[in-house]
Amino acid sequence: MTTTVAIIGSGPSGFFSADSLLKARPDVQVHMFDRLPTPYGLIRSGVAPDHQHIKRVTSVFEKIASHPSFQFTGNVEIGKTVELDVLRRLYDAVVIATGAPEGVRIGVPGDDLNQSHTAAEFVSWYNGHPDFVELSVDPRGKAAVLFGHGNVAIDVARILLSDIDYLDKTDIADHALDTLRDNPVRSVYLAGRRGPLQASFTTAELRALLAIPGLRVVIDPADLDFGPAAEELLSLPANALLSRNIELLRAAAARSEEPHTKELHLLFRSSPVEIRGQGKVDAVEFRRNRLTDGLLDCKVTTTDERFTIEAGLAVACIGFRSRRLPGVPFDERKGGVSHVRGKVVDEHFDGKAPLYVAGWIKRGPSGVIGSNRADAAETIETLLADLDQVERASRPQDVGETRIGLPRYAIDFEMWRRIDQAERSAGALREKPRCKFVSVEAMLNAAAHAH
Ligand code: NAP
Repeated sequence: MTTTVAIIGSGPSGFFSADSLLKARPDVQVHMFDRLPTPYGLIRSGVAPDHQHIKRVTSVFEKIASHPSFQFTGNVEIGKTVELDVLRRLYDAVVIATGAPEGVRIGVPGDDLNQSHTAAEFVSWYNGHPDFVELSVDPRGKAAVLFGHGNVAIDVARILLSDIDYLDKTDIADHALDTLRDNPVRSVYLAGRRGPLQASFTTAELRALLAIPGLRVVIDPADLDFGPAAEELLSLPANALLSRNIELLRAAAARSEEPHTKELHLLFRSSPVEIRGQGKVDAVEFRRNRLTDGLLDCKVTTTDERFTIEAGLAVACIGFRSRRLPGVPFDERKGGVSHVRGKVVDEHFDGKAPLYVAGWIKRGPSGVIGSNRADAAETIETLLADLDQVERASRPQDVGETRIGLPRYAIDFEMWRRIDQAERSAGALREKPRCKFVSVEAMLNAAAHAH
């Protein structure tokens, strides 16, 4: 009987898992499932629309998908359309690579007001994820406040502050383009609870944000004055990248008086205490923090100093959590699945196929796209070591024969190619990489019709 492995999720960690597996065992049948008709997960709905160079990794995924032992099935939600237990009875192993799609809320009073969003929602909205098309985004000409000093916050700030003509040449969703055209955001406050030495954004992302034409960058000079001990640390080769970030911030702050059309305020040592507004976000009240117990890594203690920023939009860019999958032990505290080298610590094995995790559901929301390659390789190494011991006799049928009773509206890779082609053709007419379909219905229509 052919050995079969199911992979749930078609983002980078799913595809890199498939690749590792097929390279080691080209005879294994790999069946990948995604709840959307479109593959590629965060590449499509997370990576910023103006970062097409990052999206080029999909050509690697296309190659993996062309392997004769690989099969993609979209528009099938495991846990809803098909129970996980069904997969666990039909396959020899199941790899869960569903990422961390839930945003983390900032958790202060007023956090639930209209126009207070998480990055998971906001990024999905401008990237045209079908679940977020209806998200209400209406900053009403006011400033936007973003919480967090990571690359996601930088992405969101760049999208909000970029010229509409620049965005028009990306694959940003049309509804987002229209909203930002009609309602441009001229000021963004990027607020982090610690200082520039502790910010987690990377140099390339920071540089691109600060280089937006016509942008005035405002930073309290006190936040860039670290004292001799920190300056000495910055001069060490090991801290060269951090030192580069500080140089960029200092250079940007120094040009603050040049003519400008937009403003970026980098707020350090600032934690929100309340989001205020009558029904909608109107202002954010902050508390100033004091940083203690270290230089590059430090603790945050609060002070009594408070200040308020008027704003029409608040986006919490402070992390992501994975979504609980029925039947999979879930660690609520870490917002992911506990595992040993990728194998799920599973108390209910019951003769069913073992479960594995790869990507953000395994290690949390960290790293770049390429980090998922090594992460997936570790999981597949564990899986392959187990495979010999899997009790295949317990499986009732060969999955190749049953095709798990997939619904008629399931999408295979050929159908995805039609969606892809239709989006690219529409994009070419407007000098864009693609015009995304933002509803499942439109995707299914395109999939059903040869271009
Ligand atoms: P991140 O780099 O971990 O940044 C999270 C930020 O949220 C940090 O500034 C953190 O501050 C702050 N934060 C966390 N909890 C908070 C709380 N309760 N209150 C206030 N602030 C809080 O994560 P990310 O920006 O979400 O990015 C996720 C991963 O994707 C990262 O590895 C990132 O590099 C990657 N990514 C890469 C790109 C790119 O390469 N272009 C683009 C987007 C994302 P503390 O440091 O004080 O905890």
